[in-house]
Amino acid sequence: MLSKEEIEKGLHTQWAGRNMICLESTDSTNVQVKHLAQRGAAHGTVVVAESQSAGRGRLGRKWESPAGSNLYFSLLLRENIVPQKASMLTLVMGLALQEAIEQVCGIETKIKWPNDIVLDGRKIAGILTEMYFKEDNSAYVIIGTGVNVKAQDFVPQLENKAAFLENTCKEPVSREALLAKILECFEGKVALFIKTMDFSLLRQSYNEVLVNCGREVRVLDPAGEYTGTAQGINEEGELLVRRPDGTVEKVYAGEVSVRGVYGYV
Ligand code: ADP
Repeated sequence: MLSKEEIEKGLHTQWAGRNMICLESTDSTNVQVKHLAQRGAAHGTVVVAESQSAGRGRLGRKWESPAGSNLYFSLLLRENIVPQKASMLTLVMGLALQEAIEQVCGIETKIKWPNDIVLDGRKIAGILTEMYFKEDNSAYVIIGTGVNVKAQDFVPQLENKAAFLENTCKEPVSREALLAKILECFEGKVALFIKTMDFSLLRQSYNEVLVNCGREVRVLDPAGEYTGTAQGINEEGELLVRRPDGTVEKVYAGEVSVRGVYGYV
């Protein structure tokens, strides 16, 4: 079982995870944080669970969340929320995950814009950001994250799609240490984000670890699919994609998925 005490021992943050709830099983950590938020939970509240019966991805997709060996947690943000900029918080968490995985496990992962962390073309972590409005029109944001740590009886259809930290790391990964480091990295990066309320200060480091950079991508836009070459993100966190005729599209994360031309990445 995940140990709350262990997580807190390694936690060097001011607010992220300072109110931490560990559950053995739950429907979805995002749903649990939402309940807590409605009852006034503090900025930075985290719910972490051993398993989720209804873990979710974007666009109504499912996040497989078997018990015992992975990390599933959600973080509540209620300060400095600008609704038009909230989707960029997914990118901030992506950067935090990438950095924390490198520091704790020594593994260099990449970010697949906008919300996945990948290793050799397979998904090792995913992020789902949701925003809700209160009656006074103020907003709060919940960032849910799932990290695959140890392969076990995993769903066969994900066999070629999912990657696991311990397959590469070869040593046991402390989920407690990893969670504490992710929260620490997030706190540092979100402070830089808030300074400008955009990606001016984070864009360069983001583009350095962006797997899509320079690659042919297929943009699955509900208004029409197209292909082009991904060029990195701009200061608004949009993915710049150069079409064959030279025009550059700004892809906004909302409803759009990006794939490689020959596969997932
Ligand atoms: P997309 O990659 O299209 O943006 P999402 O970010 O919404 O998709 O994530 C959901 C998808 O991720 C699922 O449809 C499934 O293919 C895949 N998936 C679900 N659970 C896991 C997991 N634990 N590890 C890796 N991939 C997963």
